[in-house]
Amino acid sequence: MAKDINLIIDKLKIMHGKPRVELVFTNPLELVIATVLSAQCTDERVNRVTESLFKKYRTFRDYLNVPQEELEVDIKPTGFYKNKAKSIQHIAHEIMERFGGSVPQDVDTFTTIKGIGRKSANLIVGLAFGKSAIIVDTHVIRLSNRIGFSDKKDPDKIEQDIKKAVPEDMWTAFSLLITLHGRYLCKAKKPECGRCLLREDCDYWMGGKGNV
Ligand code: SF4
Repeated sequence: MAKDINLIIDKLKIMHGKPRVELVFTNPLELVIATVLSAQCTDERVNRVTESLFKKYRTFRDYLNVPQEELEVDIKPTGFYKNKAKSIQHIAHEIMERFGGSVPQDVDTFTTIKGIGRKSANLIVGLAFGKSAIIVDTHVIRLSNRIGFSDKKDPDKIEQDIKKAVPEDMWTAFSLLITLHGRYLCKAKKPECGRCLLREDCDYWMGGKGNV
């Protein structure tokens, strides 16, 4: 079924408000750190940790100048803190050594840093630098399949399918709204189709699979 993207985005905005990420940050450095911490952790918990973390660490150099054990303690509530501390210090080192302390603004360049996947790179360049970016997280994968933007499972292929269906100037807003929709309404186990404005735009519902 052909999709009216403008209409879908308008409906998503009615349901979820303006496109946004729920991680709190004020600059690219903070978004890089918050993104690493958000793996397997809620945005709410990350925000509680970063409120004090961002006062203590203001530069990538600050993250490099502490023993890994101290950083582990500072980020412990986000879980997997040993791996996350190691990853943060590696990313900080790479950005300092290879990019002069500036976060790369190009996704393909950014993903050459171990620990920065395509989803994270797109999120950071999209939100910190205002670039057009398709952020394929678990919600975007699931909802792309349900609504009918893609029948693929592979995130890179889904990104390509969305690129064909959605005009470039809407990529970032579309991704963020779909993530909000997946988080709050079109949930993994039981989508709340009865409250969803996208029913007529959605292959899952139109195919008779929805819940009311
Ligand atoms: S109709 Fe149901 S499956 Fe389709 S987007 Fe809405 S909540 Fe998700």
